[in-house]
Order: sequence, then structure tokens, then C-alpha cells
Amino acid sequence: MKPTVKKGLLIGRTRYKESSLIIRTLMEDGSLVSLLFKGALRRKSGIAGRIRPFALLEFVYYHRPGKNIYTASDAEVLEDFSDAVSDYTSQQRVAKFFKKAVSLLKPEQSVPEIFDIVLALLREWKEISSLSENLLWSGFLLKIMTFAGFSPTIFRCAICGGKINPEEKSAFSPSAGGLICSSCRKPNDAIQFSKKMVKTAQFLLSNSFTKYFKIMPAEDEFKKLNIALQKFWEYHIGEVKS
Ligand SMILES: [Zn+2]
Repeated sequence: MKPTVKKGLLIGRTRYKESSLIIRTLMEDGSLVSLLFKGALRRKSGIAGRIRPFALLEFVYYHRPGKNIYTASDAEVLEDFSDAVSDYTSQQRVAKFFKKAVSLLKPEQSVPEIFDIVLALLREWKEISSLSENLLWSGFLLKIMTFAGFSPTIFRCAICGGKINPEEKSAFSPSAGGLICSSCRKPNDAIQFSKKMVKTAQFLLSNSFTKYFKIMPAEDEFKKLNIALQKFWEYHIGEVKS
């Protein structure tokens, strides 16, 4: 049987029996895959040391339809980001982003962009970790929700479909599905969005994390934006089960 070779990121690992490992990965095609490494914890194996978090890994495994866990034979480290994520705070912060992205994926679903976004966050972490947490979370949520199919509409009015004018104040309604133009009636859950918040949301979705430094700091508005997007998440996706 021909093995499957795929790049992926480690999400979690647990010991299985005496010397084996079962790991959960987010693969490059944006799917969640569980792999069994038999004997990985035996001293001479060396594989366990290569199955590490905060690194782009390449897995060799045997894909068998109908199985939940595939038997794997090897893992290599392609890119190691542990230098950038060496302190505990960074590790906790990155893990929170990972968890949120992974919670969007259903078992049979593949969303390659989710993998790309998480990998970009890791690759750029050294640079972007100094950004406002509210700004980074807002951009991250907008990106992952858009690609997973829960797109909050931020360029067009969620009610009439008309173009949102970033020079006007708008409102954002989780139940309506996004921004609402100044001519439409606001639902009860509408949150006021300043011009700056509208422009910021549009910029965050259209640009890579490293470009976020171009946005003029406005922490109060970044915070409001993040809260609005969290509310959108709660309305459409629900609480993260942990
Ligand atoms: Zn409208």
C-alpha cells in the first residue's frame, strides 16, 4: 500500500498503550486527521521528538477509508517556529488561535485556507505578536469565519445588499449577518460601528497579518470590533466545546 505524505500542524498528542502516540493534526488540505505512531516513545525511535508543536511537519501515513485513526510511519520537521513562540505567554496565545480555528472544522470537512491562516500566524508570529490583541483577533476571526462559510458581510449591507460606504457610520448585527447600511432598519442586536471600525474590518479581511501595522492604533474601537465579531461567532457557531 502506497503511503500518503502530507504537511500538517500538531494540535494535540496523547500516549497510547505503553510506547505509542496518537496525535491530532491539522493537515495542509485543512482537514483534521488523527495518526497512530506505534512505538514512537521507545528510546531508539526518535520520532516522538520530531512530533512537536509550533512547527510545520510532514507526515507519512497509510490512509484507509472508513478509519478514524491512520497508522503513521514517519514525521519530519520542515519548519520550526519554536524560537518565535518560546515564551509561555506566546505559546498560550498561539494555542488559543489554533483552538478557535480547529473548532470551526467538522470531522469530514476540509478547508485549506484555515490551514494557511494558522500557518501564516505561526510564520509571522515574531513580527505580529506585538500587535494589539483585539486587532489580531478581529482579523483572525474575520478570516477563518469567512473561509469556513460563516462570512460576516462587511462590504455589502446584510439586509439590502447595497455597498457599505466606509465614509458613513454603520451598524453590525450578528442576527442579520453583518454590517447594515444607514438606510436599512437596524435589528435589535445591532452594534454601532464607527467609520474607523468599518474601514478596519474591511482592511483586516483583505490583508495579511503583517500589514496590520499600517492601521492607526485605536484600541477602544479594536476592542468593540473584536467583541462584535465574538458575538457574531456565538450567534452563528456557538460556544467552543472544550
Ligand atoms: Zn441596507
